[in-house]
Amino acid sequence: MSKVFDVIVIGAGPGGYVCAIRSAQLGMKTACVESRKTLGGTCLNVGCIPSKSLLNLSEYYYKAQKEFNSLGIEAENIKLNLSKMMENKNKSVLTLTKGVEYLFKKNKITHIKGVGSITSQNEVTVTEQSGKKNIYQAKNIVISSGSNSASLPEIKIDENVIVSSTGALSFDSIPKELVIIGGGYIGLEMGSIWKRLGSNVTVIEFLDHIIPGMDHDISKEFLKILKKQGINFKLDSKVTSVNKVKEQAVVDLTNNKTSERERIQADKVLVAIGRKPNIDLLNLKKMNIKIDHQDRIQIDKKFQTSKKNIFAIGDVIAGPMLAHKAEEEGIAVAEIIAGQAGRVNYDVIPGVIYTSPEVATIGKTEEQLKKENIKFKIGKFPFLANSRAKVNNETEGFVKIIADEKTDKILGVHMIGPHVGNMIAEIAIAMEFGASSEDIARTCHAHPTHTEAIKEAALAVDKRSIHF
Ligand SMILES: Cc1cc2nc3c(=O)[nH]c(=O)nc-3n(C[C@H](O)[C@H](O)[C@H](O)COP(=O)(O)OP(=O)(O)OC[C@H]3O[C@@H](n4cnc5c(N)ncnc54)[C@H](O)[C@@H]3O)c2cc1C
Repeated sequence: MSKVFDVIVIGAGPGGYVCAIRSAQLGMKTACVESRKTLGGTCLNVGCIPSKSLLNLSEYYYKAQKEFNSLGIEAENIKLNLSKMMENKNKSVLTLTKGVEYLFKKNKITHIKGVGSITSQNEVTVTEQSGKKNIYQAKNIVISSGSNSASLPEIKIDENVIVSSTGALSFDSIPKELVIIGGGYIGLEMGSIWKRLGSNVTVIEFLDHIIPGMDHDISKEFLKILKKQGINFKLDSKVTSVNKVKEQAVVDLTNNKTSERERIQADKVLVAIGRKPNIDLLNLKKMNIKIDHQDRIQIDKKFQTSKKNIFAIGDVIAGPMLAHKAEEEGIAVAEIIAGQAGRVNYDVIPGVIYTSPEVATIGKTEEQLKKENIKFKIGKFPFLANSRAKVNNETEGFVKIIADEKTDKILGVHMIGPHVGNMIAEIAIAMEFGASSEDIARTCHAHPTHTEAIKEAALAVDKRSIHF
């Protein structure tokens, strides 16, 4: 095997494998180092893909159990076969990780197995599982080592009783009591899965609202809907300790405002307080590659680290920890290395929460715009008045469009409702083209579709919504 490359990418998650493919497409001799057995990174192995599989399957189960009868579909004896459900999830993961292997072969990318570390400006040393070290040379190195679950100093994750999202994707029985520390999107997606499958779920969040950074209208509506679904919330509360007692956990918390203390006993505790960059094994300190106060690799506008031929992308740098953001950066870096003008538009990165209903947001929130003193107008449309949502008995939520008061340019769109995770693509394209709310309002949307709610919200910006 050749040991000299134009580009060596460290990490085969969505940032790394996409960067490797684009680099190869651009004619560069490319290798990708991955320490995990399978390709695809966090996203395919223990993130986006397995969580979406369980969200989908648990929703089928929930609907079959709770909704079918009232819709005239009489199903009796509906039973959960958790191990089969997990098998299905594992099959989806395997198929997709194999898919990346196929793409590597198709694009003639060298897949190097082991832990990569940067041992000089043009050198990556890879340690195989056996301990054997191999040295590879590269003109350019791209760090895409991703992130892993963060914890608190007082909480020890054992992936059995006290788990990270990885453990919560593979429970072998339904926990009776599940406590989730953290009301971010991972905690709420996992909470939805296990609630639908039968757990009593309690989410503890330090702030007084869920999904920090999200438009408050959406966050409030989302909380109301999740509470209606039976998920318990302890907001404005600090977890002071989590102790394992036999095969259970005892969670102590204190309310930030009242200082009232509470103790909850749980079968499983999921720690979902965020993720931290994977930087420990890269030899960054010796290489003088700078990191910031949150352990993220510092880069300039061209994704260059403090060493000009060493780049960094994805969860290991600043910005939203999202697979599609990492992918865009992977493409941009490959193009920059090839001498092209790769760039990422950080103003137009959608964020989706795949609960039921879904949440999808893009651009600025109302709160951000107020802070920035930007004058805006708002158009809102409820799914209750959307014919397709009504037909499908999915009427919760709304679309909120925020447009510049003077120019009418769309500044942000925030949606909660059925299928909004797919619908946000329309807005992303509109925003990339600098569209106004008028542009969307005058675009013909098929009837009956959920997307008509977007058109109606755009009409509502100038108070001329037809169906509400
Ligand atoms: C439960 C869960 C659900 C999620 N759901 C979504 C979602 O629905 N949508 C979304 O956009 N995002 C989601 N995410 C986030 C998403 O998975 C990450 O943002 C994305 O995977 C980041 O891509 P990356 O390429 O930067 O890193 P990663 O996917 O973390 O990949 C990095 C890879 O590098 C490898 N690696 C690390 N260090 C080394 C080394 N020294 N040598 C060799 N290999 C190394 C790791 O093994 C890993 O495979 C989810 C995450 C979790 C945990």
